[in-house]
Amino acid sequence: AAETVRVELGDRSYDILIGPGLLGDAGRHVSTVLPGIRAAIVTDDNVAQHHLETVRQSLADAGIETAEIVVPAGEPSKSFATLQEVVSRILDARLERGDAVIALGGGVIGDLAGFAAAIVRRGMNFVQMPTTLLAQVDSSVGGKTGINAPHGKNLVGAFYQPRLVLADTAALDTLPAREFRAGYAEVVKYGLIDRPDFFAWLEGNWPAIRDGGPERIRAIAESCRAKADVVARDEREAGDRALLNLGHTFGHALEAAAKYDPAILVHGEGVAIGMVLAHEFSARMNLASPDDARRVAAHLENAGLPTNLDGMKTHLRDADSMLGFIRQDKKVTRGALNFILTRGVGRSFIAKDVPESEVRGFLVDKI
Ligand code: NAD
Ligand code: ZN
Repeated sequence: AAETVRVELGDRSYDILIGPGLLGDAGRHVSTVLPGIRAAIVTDDNVAQHHLETVRQSLADAGIETAEIVVPAGEPSKSFATLQEVVSRILDARLERGDAVIALGGGVIGDLAGFAAAIVRRGMNFVQMPTTLLAQVDSSVGGKTGINAPHGKNLVGAFYQPRLVLADTAALDTLPAREFRAGYAEVVKYGLIDRPDFFAWLEGNWPAIRDGGPERIRAIAESCRAKADVVARDEREAGDRALLNLGHTFGHALEAAAKYDPAILVHGEGVAIGMVLAHEFSARMNLASPDDARRVAAHLENAGLPTNLDGMKTHLRDADSMLGFIRQDKKVTRGALNFILTRGVGRSFIAKDVPESEVRGFLVDKI
């Protein structure tokens, strides 16, 4: 039932294995790629409760000795303080460059542990074991690692590719439903960027994906292929990789308006609303049909995601407050913005120099 997606990056190429039960087989897979190593498993206190013992035991059975590093769950762990703690613990365990740092968790753990792997001894082997849907389809693929600074999110980091990614699709069964839906917004995103047939397939298969049928494996594998394709073309986001930001300009502005409080809005929910707004804005600019925006909203709503600004009204005073958050997120050059717009479902493109006045006009009607 498992699938393999290869990320092609020359001598740094690696496989993403996708299927149920991979964490229980982690030792065998890790020793195949990295024979004879020791490892540090970095995880958070939620994931540790559900999955740490499975991974530790499987690695031990394969003769891989481990140190376990458990940090508090949540975005605040992407900090200098937690990074220092993780680095110290890796060094305490006397791991060498050829040994591995294993990220067992969601995007927070992947970003934090990946950055630690990149800097300890100038770069240790790194293995991703993503346990959220968002991490399996997005953050564990492509090599962006890092932490937040007081100045903003993800401002300190490195491009650093893993040697192996193990995406255990059954490990998602312990994920809270809201986190699963939020990760699903990124799955939908790949369809909307340039895979219209995938989007149409998702429209018919959301319940099976949610409930853990073989469709879940297929949806994750197709998402990984989509991201791997973009990353192989443009590893460092000089061009095309920006397409992955579809829905994210509006989405990030909404997250900022919600003060990054996950009780109000989590990332994927902001992306869901943002993708609908990007389609509506494209329709307003006469680039796409309003029917496409309605179709996108209908599917996201069906998956239990928010698709409009109704829940955000108390956090958004007016169009200008939202525009202020957009300006903070984006480099605004002479009153113009870079935006991912669309000509319809699966036909997104990078639009440079979108006049700020157009965005403002759109938001005035919305808020
Ligand atoms: P997360 O890592 O905080 O995980 C969400 C919650 O789910 C946490 O409370 C976690 O403890 C819990 N959890 C994780 N796996 C679980 C499981 N199997 N069962 C039960 N609970 C589980 O959040 P996330 O949404 O996975 O990732 C968000 C982070 O990813 C952000 O920091 C973002 O900046 C980053 N990110 C990075 C990239 C990249 O390319 N590097 C891309 C997108 C997002
Ligand atoms: Zn995202």
